[in-house]
Amino acid sequence: MGKSEFMSPKDIANRMKAKGLQKLRFYCQMCQKQCRDANGFKCHCLSESHLRQMSLFAENPTKYMESFSDEFLQEYVALLSRRYNTMRVSANQIYQELIADRNHLHMNATQWDTLTDFVKHLGRNGIAHVDETPRGWFVAWIDNSPEALERQAAIQKKERSTMDDEQREQKRIQEQIVRAQSQTAGSEKSEVSDDCIVLSN
Ligand SMILES: [Zn+2]
Repeated sequence: MGKSEFMSPKDIANRMKAKGLQKLRFYCQMCQKQCRDANGFKCHCLSESHLRQMSLFAENPTKYMESFSDEFLQEYVALLSRRYNTMRVSANQIYQELIADRNHLHMNATQWDTLTDFVKHLGRNGIAHVDETPRGWFVAWIDNSPEALERQAAIQKKERSTMDDEQREQKRIQEQIVRAQSQTAGSEKSEVSDDCIVLSN
């Protein structure tokens, strides 16, 4: 048996900690450290190791923010494509699944202030189809792999040739109608009709 009793407040807190379910705002991305509360976070920010990390960050903040943003984007898109492929799904649902992993990269370290900003970025860059609904934003991953593009090209080609066939068929029927009309007109004059017009396939 551990230090704390089963299901005691401490035990619950410990297990929440293990699952990374603390409030996200007490997380330091530079040190990848989750603090329990505001006080813990304050103490962490004064620690030597944190100050060392922050001086690294200060040397090149853009580089760090870009790499955090890249990593966040990759994690999000990997989860979206792996679990849902090109299916349309709630952007927040993916986000909730992402942050359930205690080692996930925290969005407050990225270039995006909100999930909406991030989702719009996905849409602008052709990474996903995005749309806003009363129930929030939805995303559908766009599969740009060579195999997927090939598959799509084949479908389009087939659709195009089907369309051509239909157009040819329409034209043929039109011609038959015109011929039938002119022959009917002719037969009315001569009262002779030895041609049978069949509008067949
Ligand atoms: Zn830190």
